[in-house]
Amino acid sequence: MPGAAERVVELLTAPPAATHAVQFYEDVAALGGIVARFVSAGLAAGEPALVIAREPHLRAFERSLVAHGVDVEAAVEAGSLRWLDARETLSRFMRGDMPDWKLFETAMGEQIALSRAGLADVPVRIFGETVDVLLADGNPSAAMRLEEMWNDLGRTLPFSLVCAHVMGHFYRASDGERFHDVCRAHTHVLPTEAYSSVDRDAQLREIALLQQRARALESEIERGKKLEAELRDVARGRDRIEDALRRSNRDLDQFAYVVSHELKSPLRAIESLAQWIEDDHGAGLAPEAIVQLRTLRERVHRMEAIIDGILDYSRAGRSRALEVVDVGALLVEVLDTQPAAVRAHVSIAPGMPTFATDRITLYQVFQNLISNAVKYTRRPDAAIAVGVEDSGDFFHFWVADNGPGIASHLLDRVWKVFARVEKHGPDVAEGTGIGLSVVRKITEMRGGRVWLESAVGKGSTFHFTWPKSLPE
Ligand code: ADP
Repeated sequence: MPGAAERVVELLTAPPAATHAVQFYEDVAALGGIVARFVSAGLAAGEPALVIAREPHLRAFERSLVAHGVDVEAAVEAGSLRWLDARETLSRFMRGDMPDWKLFETAMGEQIALSRAGLADVPVRIFGETVDVLLADGNPSAAMRLEEMWNDLGRTLPFSLVCAHVMGHFYRASDGERFHDVCRAHTHVLPTEAYSSVDRDAQLREIALLQQRARALESEIERGKKLEAELRDVARGRDRIEDALRRSNRDLDQFAYVVSHELKSPLRAIESLAQWIEDDHGAGLAPEAIVQLRTLRERVHRMEAIIDGILDYSRAGRSRALEVVDVGALLVEVLDTQPAAVRAHVSIAPGMPTFATDRITLYQVFQNLISNAVKYTRRPDAAIAVGVEDSGDFFHFWVADNGPGIASHLLDRVWKVFARVEKHGPDVAEGTGIGLSVVRKITEMRGGRVWLESAVGKGSTFHFTWPKSLPE
């Protein structure tokens, strides 16, 4: 039994009647060798040759034929060797996107008759790239239809046909089906030059290697599919968790909102009662009872401030109305809410941007930071500065003061709800410890971040980034 390489040579040299072989190739130079063997053996046996190839291939094949000792000029002159351009040939029988049987039968019938030049019973050797051109054009259904037409034509006209296909058209795993279809449409399948030119032992080795590679690829593809499915599961799981988290955050905000509202009315009632007791019975009360009643009212006020803070926190970031905001003008508005005496201590850097954003929440952030700076910097030479710099997709803003500063171990704490750093006492600024947590919540909901630089006695700088564009 001959080896595969010998079988290829045998087929190309003396193809049996009605051969319709497919030759896969990687390199045009190697294909030239195949064409030369097929054509030169045919010419030697008195069988005319018809080569239908892509224009640039025609010249390469001509060189190969010459190298194989064929007198190309004489053969062309005698009409036993004829060249046809594949694309031009296709245009003779394509109707729209598909080949037309009638046109094909007429056009190729004429070409075959021309090659035979009236000689009876002489088979023509046809080398063709027409189907491969259709595959290269991304029209596989027309390619397969044309393959069938060549088979049908072979039933009525005597020719042997070798089609060439670039292996590169079948490199993806999804090409497997089409590759099988192409092989099935041919009487013989000739592998690429990488396989047909080696000796018999090397061929066996090559087969084993190919089998291993095919198995390895199949299991890789299986693994890939499994990983893909797992990834999809993980993504679905993550979406579910994110949904649940969003829902629970919403519920929590809603809960804080409702509870705060509910707490406020009894608080107001307590305050009114304390006021009435003082108004109605003040004269009969011991002085310390009056002091206690005042303390009670103060505590009620503080409680109210805390509840308002919780309401602020639960509502923070809800608004999402986009409008064009001139940050310089917005800062002036924030300063207008501060005591006139301190405004002179605040400087706003030039170059504040104007951009479309959520005005209310940006206002809230500046309002909290600036009022803190004013509140905590209790010194006659207070200096508060608001700055900005461009930071890619974000603006980076900061509010700096020369106030008391915050100890390094407390820098993270101040952003937490109800966190207050200052000790309590008569000299201490009023506050609930909620402002900075609102700043952080709003900023992070918008995709920005907050951080703080500070040292005791040296002042503090509160930084935040704010996206240049927000989704509608
Ligand atoms: P509040 O001001 O109502 O107490 P915040 O959340 O705004 O609450 O601030 C948390 C704490 O951070 C404050 O209690 C204060 O101790 C500290 N802090 C905030 N801003 C400054 C500042 N500019 N300088 C010094 N300490 C500050």
